[in-house]
Amino acid sequence: MAKWHCHQPGRTHNNVIMKKLLTILGSTGSIGTQTLDVVRMHNDRFEVYALTANNNVQLLIKQALEFKPEVVVIANECHYNTLKCALKEYPIKVYAGAKAIEEVASISIVDIVVTAMVGYSGLAPTIAAIKAGKRIALANKETLVVAGNIITELTLKHNATILPVDSEHGAIFQCLQGEDTNVVNKLILTASGGPFRTYDIEKLRTATAKEALSHPTWSMGNKITIDSASLMNKGFEMIEAKWLFGVDPDQIIVIIHPQSIIHSMIEYKDGSIKAQLGETDMRLPIQYALTYPERIKSPTPFLDFTKHNQLTFEEPDFKRFRNLEIAYQAMKQGGNLPCIINAANEVVVDAFLHDKVGFIEMSDIIEKTINRLAFISNPTYEDYVACDAETRIIASEFLK
Ligand code: MG
Repeated sequence: MAKWHCHQPGRTHNNVIMKKLLTILGSTGSIGTQTLDVVRMHNDRFEVYALTANNNVQLLIKQALEFKPEVVVIANECHYNTLKCALKEYPIKVYAGAKAIEEVASISIVDIVVTAMVGYSGLAPTIAAIKAGKRIALANKETLVVAGNIITELTLKHNATILPVDSEHGAIFQCLQGEDTNVVNKLILTASGGPFRTYDIEKLRTATAKEALSHPTWSMGNKITIDSASLMNKGFEMIEAKWLFGVDPDQIIVIIHPQSIIHSMIEYKDGSIKAQLGETDMRLPIQYALTYPERIKSPTPFLDFTKHNQLTFEEPDFKRFRNLEIAYQAMKQGGNLPCIINAANEVVVDAFLHDKVGFIEMSDIIEKTINRLAFISNPTYEDYVACDAETRIIASEFLK
């Protein structure tokens, strides 16, 4: 079908806006499916070039049949035959494995790469997309958490663009329009506080994955929902903000805002504060990352202030939610510490989801793991790969 040969993506021809070609890494997850909602609504602007998934082969097949991409990739090679067989009558190339995902992240014809994989697995394909100079709609925050120094350096070197999909960072990015970063006093990240916001330590000790998975305001994937309950997600978002906006750790503060209507704010040098508000719907920040600097109609419902007549704010409790303190220290000290907390966190969250570790114990194990690893102040990519692997082994030992 070679549909891309007939146009120059992203340019105008005879005053017609040419479609942008997208690669969506992690298309079957929460962000991936909502990205496809945006594409479905704006099929005059966007076309899917490649879709990739980790394990959910049935949904990937369904998406491939609807969006007719050029390429689909399944990370788990066990599902290759199922995928290949289901799409055999269509001119869709089918691949499997991590290397193939890196390849579709850097294909020259693609305009925008949406990185919506979960966790550390997003690092290598994001680097591939950066090296290819892509515009990246970044939803995989772990990439910046683990290797922010390398990502920032490579983005500049290869003239790539990273646009945040995370709602808080999308909000800050919107508030920054027309401003200079040197007039920013503070970035104020809002946090819902998660389902355990009002729990005392005793109640947190016996909190279960099932309780954690019923998030009060946002509907998200399992891993990030647990991270939200433990506030590790907010800790990671501080680190993400540090790299995305180039501010000092002291300039980043977190405020609990249970209604999740203000998605984040900037306090400027003159004391003025800008905030971005909206319904809790990820399709808005996803779409802005795809259409920036343009604003167009979105699938997100409009905010009705009469239904949200009370916006409240609380200070976060770093004692009950120790992950915030752990992440804050990792942000300040840098080096391989954020990589360690990310890998240890992936191990304990997986265990918590399978009821193999308690809620409070997750932070205990992360701290014990940090103490077992050597600090590296300026890690290379190879250092991160080794550190990630070593951390997983050590954290897993603490689970036994
Ligand atoms: Mg967020």
